[in-house]
Amino acid sequence: MTPDASKCSICGRLLDRPDDPLSRDFGGDCWGCIGEIEGDPEYGYPPNIRRIRREIALGLRPPFGPLRPAGRLDED
Ligand SMILES: [Zn+2]
Repeated sequence: MTPDASKCSICGRLLDRPDDPLSRDFGGDCWGCIGEIEGDPEYGYPPNIRRIRREIALGLRPPFGPLRPAGRLDED
């Protein structure tokens, strides 16, 4: 059995679906999962952290870990 290449290897989300902004394919994992790694406030990449905070504020992404909504948008 080979894994289905069109699904995230972490959460099983279907990848590259136009109606799902978190489904962008990052080497077999979805942006939803990669974002939870990239969004770490201490170790993540700052532009990605800002983008993920906006996704949470817009309701595109459920809040997770340390990136709970802070009550304001972190605009550039
Ligand atoms: Zn995933």
